[in-house]
Amino acid sequence: MTKDTEILKVREKYNQLISAHGTRLVFQWIPGHAYIAGNVKADILAKKGAQQQQPCKPVTYTTARQITNHNYRENWVNMWAMGQTGRVVYKYMNSLKTNDNIRTISRKEQVTIFRLGTQHAPLNYHLNRINPQHPPMCPLCNDNDQFETTDHLLLHCPNLDDLRQDLLPPTPDTTNILYSTTDQLKNTSSSTTWQWTEEQTLTGCWIKEEEEEYIKSKKA
Ligand SMILES: [Zn+2]
Repeated sequence: MTKDTEILKVREKYNQLISAHGTRLVFQWIPGHAYIAGNVKADILAKKGAQQQQPCKPVTYTTARQITNHNYRENWVNMWAMGQTGRVVYKYMNSLKTNDNIRTISRKEQVTIFRLGTQHAPLNYHLNRINPQHPPMCPLCNDNDQFETTDHLLLHCPNLDDLRQDLLPPTPDTTNILYSTTDQLKNTSSSTTWQWTEEQTLTGCWIKEEEEEYIKSKKA
């Protein structure tokens, strides 16, 4: 059955519904995974229907692969939407985007951007959460009452004003420096990599060592 005949069958069906119920039927695109009551109900019914015995209808390998990929993606997006982790990133990345600019930068830059986005960067505030003995303060601020958070490093530390002016937009914020154009993502990445070595950026070994030391100290 071609797509055209499927569309014709759908049209025929909705014409029947209209004449049977004397009502108006409107096709309207709505966003998925947005907890719209009617759509959630339709989704539940569709899943219930899909679990019932299906007519045996052979499909081509290409179609089977498309269906498998679609289902896998849908499951992944649902799990991501319902999950408890990564919520700080979820605000900005709530769907799968194959054309996301982060895909256009190098692996090393991707790691840096992702770490800054998740706030799991080897900065003192995060290292202090792993090991309470590690001071959480910014090493650049003389008065030393500033936590070295991602926001402090990227947006506020007065000692990094020059670097910020060179590499970040005039009014930097999370969106325009971490979820932006390819060039900006590259600049944001290079504005921060001076903080840790290439090896640490690539492997996360610094955080891992801190974690291991802390676990050892707890066991001792
Ligand atoms: Zn500072």
